[in-house]
Order: sequence, then C-alpha cells, then structure tokens
Amino acid sequence: MAEEKEFKKLQEKLLYKSPHVWDKLDPDEKKALETLAQDYRNFISQAKTERECAEEICKLLEKRGFHPESTTRFYKVFRNKLVVAVVAGRKPLNEGIRLIASHIDSPRLDLKLHPLFEEYEMAYFKTHYYGGIKKYHWVAMPLALHGVVVKEDGEVMKIVIGEDPEDPVLTICDLLPHLARKVQGEKKLREAIPGEKLNVLVGGLPLPDSEEKERVKLAILQLLNARYGLVEEDFISAELEIVPAGQAREVGLDRAFIGGYGQDDRICAFTSLAAILNLEAPLYTSIALFLDKEEIGSDGNTGAKSRILEKIYFDLLKIFRASVSADMVLEMFLGTRAISADVTAGIDPFYQEVHEKLNDAKMGHGVVVTKYTGHGGKYAANDAHAEYVGWLRRVLNRARVIWQAASFGKVDEGGGGTVAKYLAYHGMDIIDMGPPLLSMHSPFEVCHKGDLYMTYRAYKAFFEAAEE
Ligand code: MN
Ligand code: MN
Repeated sequence: MAEEKEFKKLQEKLLYKSPHVWDKLDPDEKKALETLAQDYRNFISQAKTERECAEEICKLLEKRGFHPESTTRFYKVFRNKLVVAVVAGRKPLNEGIRLIASHIDSPRLDLKLHPLFEEYEMAYFKTHYYGGIKKYHWVAMPLALHGVVVKEDGEVMKIVIGEDPEDPVLTICDLLPHLARKVQGEKKLREAIPGEKLNVLVGGLPLPDSEEKERVKLAILQLLNARYGLVEEDFISAELEIVPAGQAREVGLDRAFIGGYGQDDRICAFTSLAAILNLEAPLYTSIALFLDKEEIGSDGNTGAKSRILEKIYFDLLKIFRASVSADMVLEMFLGTRAISADVTAGIDPFYQEVHEKLNDAKMGHGVVVTKYTGHGGKYAANDAHAEYVGWLRRVLNRARVIWQAASFGKVDEGGGGTVAKYLAYHGMDIIDMGPPLLSMHSPFEVCHKGDLYMTYRAYKAFFEAAEE
C-alpha cells in the first residue's frame, strides 16, 4: 500500500502529462469557448479567399480602433492580400518585438486565363489547382465562385456566386461507378482524377440559333455581361477561385468539432486576430501578420519570402519616431520573438501507420508547439532553439494554456513546411504553434473546439508575456 502511494507520487512528480482541454475548463471558459467558436464559424463561412480574409480582418481591426495613421494601434494592407496589425508596446522597439504570422491563402481551384469552353451543349470553366489538394475531393460537390475581375479600365469587380441560398452553385461532375472501373478504378488514387478534368459545370441553356456553334458558351458570356459587364478577355485579368460552397458547421452529436473549408490556416489567422484585437498596451510591441502564398511556397510579393516584413520594420521606426537605420532594423529582427501560426496534423485513428503516437498531436489536447517541421533528417526545417522553447513553455504554463508538443508524422513518412524558416532568415527566434486538424487540405477540414480556444489563449499569452 505504501509502495503504491510512493509510485503514484513519483508518477505525479516525474511523468509528462498531456491533459484533454475539456478536463481543464471551468463553466465560464466553456462559455467563452462557444462564443469564440461561433465567431470563428462565421469568419470562415464568409472569408474564403485571401482577399476576402484581408478585407474582413481590416474591417474588424477598424472596428477596434486600429488605423493606418495611428501610432498606437496601427494596421496596413498590401496589395489587398497581406495585412499587418501592430499594437505599440511600452518598451522601445530594439528591446524586443512579439510577432505572430499566419497565412490566409488556402488550397483551391483557380480559373485558367481562358477558362470558358463548351462541350456537348454544356459550358465549363477550366481550372488549375492552387496548393496541395487531393483532386478526388473536389468532384461531385457544391462549389462556389469567389474573386475579382479587373476590367481594362481598372474597375475592380467583386464576384461571389454560390453562397446565398438563392444562388445557384457550380460543380465538377464525376464519372458514374458503372463506367469507372478501368479509367479510374485501376489507377493510383492520385492519378484517378487528372488535373485537366477538374472542369466546372457552369451552363446548359443554348442561345436560340440552332445553326450556330457554342451557343451555351455565348449565353453564359451574355449572362456575365448583363450582370457584371464582363467580356471574355476580362478573365485574363481576373482572380476567380473555386471553393466549397456553404457554411462551416458544428460536427459531432456533442458538437465537439467544427468542420469547414480553409481552416488551414484561417484558424490561426482568426485566433491571432482575436488576440491582437483584445490586446491593450503590452510590454513589447506586438505584431499580427497575415500572409499570402504559403500554400504555393511563400513566393511572390505578398508571401513570407518577400521583403515586406523589412519594409514593415522600417515603417515601425518611422511611426514610433525612432531613428531609422538598417542596423536598427537588424537589431529589431534579432530581438523579435515569433510564432509561425499554422496548423498541424492531428492523429487520425484509422491511419496510425503514418503517425508516431508518442510524438504526434492529439485532437482535443490543446494548441500544438512544433519545434521543427521539414522532412527526412529535418531537412529544410526551422528547428527552434531549446532556449526559446523553454521560454515559450514558461509563458504557456504560467498562463494556464493547455498545450502539447508534437511533430508531424513518422520520420521519413513525409513532412511539410511553414513560413517559420523564411521568417527565421531575418534573424528572429521563431517556432510553429497552432491547432491540430483532421482532413487537412480537404474541402471540409475538422478542428476541435477545445484546440481552437487554446490556440487563442496561447497567442494572447504570447503577446502579453512579460517573462524574460
Ligand atoms: Mn498552413
Ligand atoms: Mn497548408
């Protein structure tokens, strides 16, 4: 009996435990969690492109007193796709900065430059997928069209079709099983649906001259012209994205989860936005950065590899009326503590063979700290320094955040990267931290509400941390 007690005591003292979020929340916290979850569902139901996210983020920032001209609560949007929000700290910029970077682009299908064609009296849009998708996910489901068309005279036309209950939706038809045995059934899963077959059905009513060809295509152009003033050449200067139609939903009989499109990485964008919206006069200047192009390698002038962050740091010196110099900016970079806010893979119980259960993330066990990503031998990883991880541990534990430390699948099984390494290039300390998802990169990704809430709490604690 005494031995048993001793054993328990040793367990208590020595063993690492990863509690379930639900075991740790009091009734008030559960209420706060539900409010956050509802706001989050609204956010991802509405903002389905990087532009729509940027616009929504700016709207919420304005509402909470952020302004492009403010010297205390400042924000700026670049090329309608990248947003930065800053709350001035009490300490000077060279004594430390806190930065959380998420991305607001998500995998999807983009319309090609010449998208519209007709086959067998049906009109279609050709697409080119953006980011890592499983192509079979995108057939036989309701789809919506979101984006902008820039006309020759510079007018920007916003388009959203397929979200209002009165709207029609679009779809990519799949082959019936009866005829699919050879052409799909005998192929590898990733080859079963070729990219060039991801054509979106958009019309079937011909114009009334039976002697002419392509009557349906012309009818669709007529419709787009009547409604938006478009001509076919306008598609060339457009960014039109095909995304899953409809709202994000609660999932599970107990409503434990949220299912919806674009949670990678809008769950981190939303929670870091919520954290900075609620931030008042922190010790260190705090930055929430919402990036584009992560899903295609962070290239381009709105991605993490661009020099926009340098521009932002120079601007901060001007805004806060400090002396502007390149050396000062480097000092600021080196003194920045950053979070690469991105999702990770939750353990899928039915594909345990790709996971390493001791080291992968568990749904419902809180926000995930990922020291390194990369693949095979940590290649191309930002491996956060132990000192930095130690500091973050201290911050999270003191703020009573439920968190777990996890990596991304078995060694040599695959892997992935985030913006961490591109931001680390500037000299800052950075680590990945975000919630685990199931069905990541699918049209209906799933998060646990407990993890959503703890991600918010973690980002808030990070911004507010006074720990050295
Ligand atoms: Mn991501
Ligand atoms: Mn991703």
